[in-house]
Amino acid sequence: MKRTELTSVDLTEPFTLKELTNSSMIESGAHILYMFNDHLLYTQNATSYIMEGLNKGHRIVLFEDQTFFDQINNNLLLEGYSEDALKQITYICHSKHYSTNNQFQADHCYENLVKLLKPAVEQHRTTRIWGQVLAQNALVSELRKYECSCDEFLNSEKVISVCAYNALETPSYIQNEMLKVHGYFMVDEKIEKSPFYNKKYVVNISPTEQLKLKKIEMENQELKRRNHQLVKEKASQKEREQDLRIAKRNAEKANAMKTTFLSQMSHDLRTPLNIIQGYSQISLLETNDPRIQSNIQKIYDASNNLLKLIEEILDFSAIEAGKVSINKECIHARSFIDQCIKSIFDITHSNQIIKVDDIDDQMYIEADRLRLTQVLTNLITNAVKYTQSNGHISISLDHDHVKDQVIINVEDTGIGIPSNELTLIFEPFYRSKRTMSKWKGTGIGLAIVAQLTTKMDGTYGVRSKEGIGSSFWVSFKGFVAKKETTDISESPFATNALPATPKMKILYIEDNLDNVDLMSSMLHIITEVELYSEATGKSGYHKAIEVQPELILLDLHLPDMNGLEVLDNLKCHPLTKSIPVIVISAEALESTIDLSLEKGCQSYLTKPVHLEKLRDLVLRHNG
Ligand code: ADP
Repeated sequence: MKRTELTSVDLTEPFTLKELTNSSMIESGAHILYMFNDHLLYTQNATSYIMEGLNKGHRIVLFEDQTFFDQINNNLLLEGYSEDALKQITYICHSKHYSTNNQFQADHCYENLVKLLKPAVEQHRTTRIWGQVLAQNALVSELRKYECSCDEFLNSEKVISVCAYNALETPSYIQNEMLKVHGYFMVDEKIEKSPFYNKKYVVNISPTEQLKLKKIEMENQELKRRNHQLVKEKASQKEREQDLRIAKRNAEKANAMKTTFLSQMSHDLRTPLNIIQGYSQISLLETNDPRIQSNIQKIYDASNNLLKLIEEILDFSAIEAGKVSINKECIHARSFIDQCIKSIFDITHSNQIIKVDDIDDQMYIEADRLRLTQVLTNLITNAVKYTQSNGHISISLDHDHVKDQVIINVEDTGIGIPSNELTLIFEPFYRSKRTMSKWKGTGIGLAIVAQLTTKMDGTYGVRSKEGIGSSFWVSFKGFVAKKETTDISESPFATNALPATPKMKILYIEDNLDNVDLMSSMLHIITEVELYSEATGKSGYHKAIEVQPELILLDLHLPDMNGLEVLDNLKCHPLTKSIPVIVISAEALESTIDLSLEKGCQSYLTKPVHLEKLRDLVLRHNG
């Protein structure tokens, strides 16, 4: 067994635990408070403290857990102590000693300690204790009571005791109190006499002091309770966040599925519509019989209604899914309104007269051209729809100089809207019972107006009187230019068709033979063509290289590859890269259209193909 000689130590300076426990002065007993931070140093200090005790033939009592006790035994064996020497250590499980019914009870702990130490004390054998006090569930008053009783006992019976507290887990108000009732204070590296220790204080605690402690205790309990609550709230917040993440993921998945479903549905409906509309347009031109013409016109109009419905649903779901991008530009107000009205009449064939008030030629609207067209088209077609043919429709524009806004008013003398419906009509799918049976519709038009206007940072509203008429308005940022500004809104398309040249070579890459037949009929109406058709992407690509057509019409859904891949290939080959390509597809998603244009196609026509549009595009590339 190792033995170390006692040394004297100058207690006016900080000293190490080894110096203290090795000093002769310790023989009179010492009550040491150890606030530890570093568990490794804590273990090293305990080992050397116990070693000193064993060397001096002290009785050792260790209040710790089993793992720590095993660790100490290992350390001692490594240091050369025998199994017999280790038997000098009495191990007491500290959680059992310091907790009765989950509570720290001073009297109970103290009685047990005295019972344990009495035999050695009576034999006048020096005892040294090392114990980690578990203070987490202890009231400071109880801890103080325990340590005060211990202090008296230890000093009178010459026992050396290190009362260790985990500094990271022990609240500072407990640490402060403990400093007052231990003669020595120790941290991981140093030990000193406690400057706050006072024997008088240890014995008597004044009523004011007691009250203060109680108050601190209560505050601490409250803090603990709030802390516990915060921990619980944080946990449930985490749970909520997790739920939200899952819900968001599911919603995104559902949204993606909805978009795929809608684009698929739109594609599948557009394909047969293409055939219906295409042949109706051809047949209209081929017959002079007014009765047949009127029948065909009905077929064409009905299919047009169906097409409009598909477009509205697709548009609305894209807006709802946040898939609509807004690219604002300065739009020349007058020509924009003229263009809008013209295209509405082209589509509806209505003979309703729309009066457009004088619009300042210098007025500009800051908005997305495509989206503003949608907004206005919806408002004007509603005005046309809900106004008798002898009624009046007028469009006027005002400029608010103060707010720098342009307000577009669409007024009609139609059926009007009762006041209780004025807020409902902008809701998706709202259709008034008054109008439902007489007029066709989806109830989406005004919801699109509301959503798109808001997306363009605009505002909207309506004033109406049943039986008298309605006035819808939308307002956007806008201005009236001071000097002449170039009209930046002119349609980029040339309006005068070029004269047709004979035998224009066109290649149509399309797998659906009905569509090929229809295209062939349409093209023969437009100009003289030499039409080549190929049913796959690969054969289409080779045909393009071989015949060098003046124009390529390309479907996107091909059996062997996506039409966009064919487009890529065509744009890479030196012999085909400058041949204009028009994509003709039933796919109407804005993202697909944008991508195709980005990849270099000249134009994108959605099925059903409108004969006039096709004529415009084909003739532009003729010759
Ligand atoms: P839809 O016209 O397809 O039914 P909208 O969303 O465009 O759907 O309009 C919603 C409802 O608002 C219509 O069903 C109609 O009752 C009413 N409404 C819209 N515009 C007018 C108008 N100019 N005059 C009278 N009622 C209108």
